[in-house]
Amino acid sequence: MDSQWKSTFREEIEDFKDTIGAFDRGELDRKAYKGMSGGMGSYAQRDPARHMLRLRMAGGRLTMERLKFLAGAVERGQAGRIKLTTCQTIQLHDLSADQVPQLMEQAMDSAIYSKGGGGDNPRNVMCSPLAGVQPGECFAPTPWAEAAADYLLSICREIHMPRKLKIAFSNGVDDSVHTAFRDMGFLARPDGAFSLRIAGGLGAAGPAMGVLAAERVEPRQVLYYIRAMIDTFCAHGNYENRAKARTRFMQETLGPDGLKKAFLDNVAARMAEGGLDVEPPAAPAPKSGDGWIVHPRAIPQKQPGLYAVKYHPIGGLLPPDKPGQLYRLLQNVEGAEIRVAPDETLYLINLTAAEADRALAATGDGACTEFEHSVACIGAAVCQQGVRDSQSTLRALVDAVRAAGVPDGALPRICVSGCPSSCSAHQAGAIGFQGGVKLVDQTPQPAFRMYLGGSDRPGEARFGQLAGAILEADLPALLTELGLAAAARGESWAQWSAAHPEERDAIIAKYA
Ligand code: SF4
Repeated sequence: MDSQWKSTFREEIEDFKDTIGAFDRGELDRKAYKGMSGGMGSYAQRDPARHMLRLRMAGGRLTMERLKFLAGAVERGQAGRIKLTTCQTIQLHDLSADQVPQLMEQAMDSAIYSKGGGGDNPRNVMCSPLAGVQPGECFAPTPWAEAAADYLLSICREIHMPRKLKIAFSNGVDDSVHTAFRDMGFLARPDGAFSLRIAGGLGAAGPAMGVLAAERVEPRQVLYYIRAMIDTFCAHGNYENRAKARTRFMQETLGPDGLKKAFLDNVAARMAEGGLDVEPPAAPAPKSGDGWIVHPRAIPQKQPGLYAVKYHPIGGLLPPDKPGQLYRLLQNVEGAEIRVAPDETLYLINLTAAEADRALAATGDGACTEFEHSVACIGAAVCQQGVRDSQSTLRALVDAVRAAGVPDGALPRICVSGCPSSCSAHQAGAIGFQGGVKLVDQTPQPAFRMYLGGSDRPGEARFGQLAGAILEADLPALLTELGLAAAARGESWAQWSAAHPEERDAIIAKYA
């Protein structure tokens, strides 16, 4: 970002010190404060004396510069819990009112801008986590995602949208960023262009797949399409009712064809105006690999002899000592970078076999099975909107599944959201849970809605079907029984669930 933009943000941080101070002293209520703090990337937690700061990083790129900032924040005692999020950001939790603006300012020096991290703003731009190194990808969309992120930050003060806008770029082989159902989803094609879906999304009022708006978008023209989507949203979005304000509701008010026409008219108008072309980036100099390594967490890159090492802290909660440990490990490794994936996994990329070996040793404390790679939002113990504590629920499930000896693969990765806001994207999980309550003898009890059969694989995106409401206390027994039943047949979850749906549904029915 340019120096003028940064200087304005510094002034905003100065003003924000007064705002957060007023909230801390009880002079501002929660709702009023939320409306002001979201635009700076911070929210108060359930305990109003504690705060969260969301660190944006386009495409989840945790560069060495950014990792150093994170390690320094921990060393200075400025971070409590560190949460990897499904939007490829990193959230620092449990901060005091004094720490939040300090961290905002310090983060800026490491190219991390919390501005627009919440509220009705364009949010962190997402990108396939292994873009640029993944075998079989159509092309790496990273430069276009970064150009989009810079552009959106540059205009965020001049636009006033009805609600937030989420944009994702996929490399064509990994759609964990959910281009099929984002506000804007750019999917790389083998011919070097993007196909584009618009006005998709998840959430309390029901999910919607995006409308296929353009089948061949030239990468250098992505900003025209993004600006046109903002124009369309501002012209046709709902400013009256927040529950109906996200872009997907324009599918209802305009109809899919009407929405597509309005959008493409705006694209044509922005193109006629010009000035938003993105220059193709220079290709980075390739690093040479050497040696080979075979390990379930060492993923061969498309560059021969180089590896990405996968590390998934349970529930996406990064141990506080990990940023410092990883920085010391990688700071002098040529080309090394970390990517935050939407399933709360970290990928340490561009490592030779010997470097990967050391990275594996430093990250052995993470998930060991597919089930342990499950996704959980921060949950109601921290989040003021939450209904159920997703983190403690997932912990209890991991402990129960380990104790029962359910083998790897017999249960899928699950997604747990603490409320209908769907922050874990539970609708797209093979098994998804949404926090709520269930009436038992007219008394509300802690429970989760269970969804089955969702998918985010490219070309197979679908939402799961509601399978029932399960008491929170019954979840460990249910998951364990399902996993042991698949294991008893010697099948993976996907095989067993497809081949024996009546067996699966009979087990669920006992608890639902
Ligand atoms: S799903 Fe609900 S509880 Fe979880 S982080 Fe989102 S808003 Fe909070």
